[in-house]
Amino acid sequence: MLRVAVVGSGPSGCYTAQSLIQRDPEVHVDVLDRLPCPYGLVRYGVAPDHEKIKSLQGSLRTVLEHERVRFLGGVRVGGPGGLPVEHLRGLYHAVVYCVGAATDRRLGIPGEELPGSWSATEFVSWYSAHPDAADAGFLRGVRSAVVIGVGNVAVDVTRMLVRGAAELRPTDIPQAALDTLAASGLTEVQMAGRRGPAQARFTTKELRELGGLPGTEVTVDPAELALDPADPGALPAGPRRNVEVLRDWAARPATPAARRIRLRFFLRPVELLAEGGRVAAVRFERTAPDGAGGVTGTGRYEDVPAQLVLRSVGYRGVPLEGLPFDPASGTIPHREGRVLRDGVPSPGEYVAGWIKRGPTGVIGTNRPCAKETVTSLLADAPALGRADVPADPVEALRAAGVAPVSWDGWLAIERAEAELGARLGRGVVKLADWDTLLGAARVP
Ligand code: NAP
Repeated sequence: MLRVAVVGSGPSGCYTAQSLIQRDPEVHVDVLDRLPCPYGLVRYGVAPDHEKIKSLQGSLRTVLEHERVRFLGGVRVGGPGGLPVEHLRGLYHAVVYCVGAATDRRLGIPGEELPGSWSATEFVSWYSAHPDAADAGFLRGVRSAVVIGVGNVAVDVTRMLVRGAAELRPTDIPQAALDTLAASGLTEVQMAGRRGPAQARFTTKELRELGGLPGTEVTVDPAELALDPADPGALPAGPRRNVEVLRDWAARPATPAARRIRLRFFLRPVELLAEGGRVAAVRFERTAPDGAGGVTGTGRYEDVPAQLVLRSVGYRGVPLEGLPFDPASGTIPHREGRVLRDGVPSPGEYVAGWIKRGPTGVIGTNRPCAKETVTSLLADAPALGRADVPADPVEALRAAGVAPVSWDGWLAIERAEAELGARLGRGVVKLADWDTLLGAARVP
């Protein structure tokens, strides 16, 4: 029998566990997570109004409920107070790190730290009820917001900013975030890309959704679209469809609406400007296409007023103490999923997901990624299986002072979230802080 630990219960962790149990009847998998709740970014990254994507939790659940898989929540690996990587390695025949990309990329421009300027990740964590997220008063006094970046996360946060109470109430958004978003006085969001429409990273389905939001008008400046020399006919399908949607919107006559989303292009952020100690505007330099997909500065600037700035310029992996790390890519160096220490595969250590390949791709991209890693692991299995490991790693974890939240504990959290929703006259409503989550998990 081969005992494998998978660190991280998001899509990459669950797909890794699934591939392991499907391909080898002798493998037993423990899926560890630092949170008492499973599903990673499906629970704490997918926007609450994207119920269809969230329903993927159903298939991840099937994996975690498999008889040869155990969920061990509330187990931090590495870092202060966490279980050291070397200790964990000694408890299992193999460990697969599926820890994602836990932080955000920085802009590196003056004013980035001003009150009122947040990473999109912080905002997403707040409306997703992540227990580490703070209610930072994101929307206090905000009339206009700027979202920097034109990827799918930028689209998510833009959409969430303009959604009304009627649309959010049926979702599992925590009550405090729902109340704040419902009461917000925000009337305009400008989402800005430093390059052109043909280089935008959002997918067409997500882009189109912005055009159907109740009470919200989407505008695109035809002059900014015209700057792009790209012939849409020559573009790959995704960018071509994006440009077509944007051109349609640019050609539409303006209609009055309570809220407006402006999609902007060829604007590179150079500074966040303050007023009264808070962010008041973003200074952008206008850029021009360089003919090769990049842009050059023009020396012309535009200040866009904003009392809230969300920097949505991508996620970034963080180093895990005891494991190698490539700071340039924010990933753990690997060959076909085998962790490389000084360029040599380290026996029994593997990676999958964003910490392996960087923060790109949709949830489904994690399937082939996990499969590749599992192929490597199972090829190594005969040698790995010879190691002496404890009969039950959970006993060893308890002896090391770690008290994992079991699957039953998670089910108790689910019940508590359903009960909270019922009390509020809503469906399931997420619990948003550590004490409440852990308290619920301990209810027998
Ligand atoms: P992303 O797709 O990499 O987009 C990042 C955006 O930030 C790009 O527009 C990029 O522009 C811009 N950017 C980077 N550095 C910048 C800088 N210094 N100044 C100005 N702009 C800068 O990242 P993401 O939106 O965080 O998404 C991460 C992954 O999750 C993606 O694969 C995404 O598709 C996925 N996701 C999917 C969904 C969904 O399917 N519904 C939802 C959320 C996330 P450049 O292109 O010029 O670098």
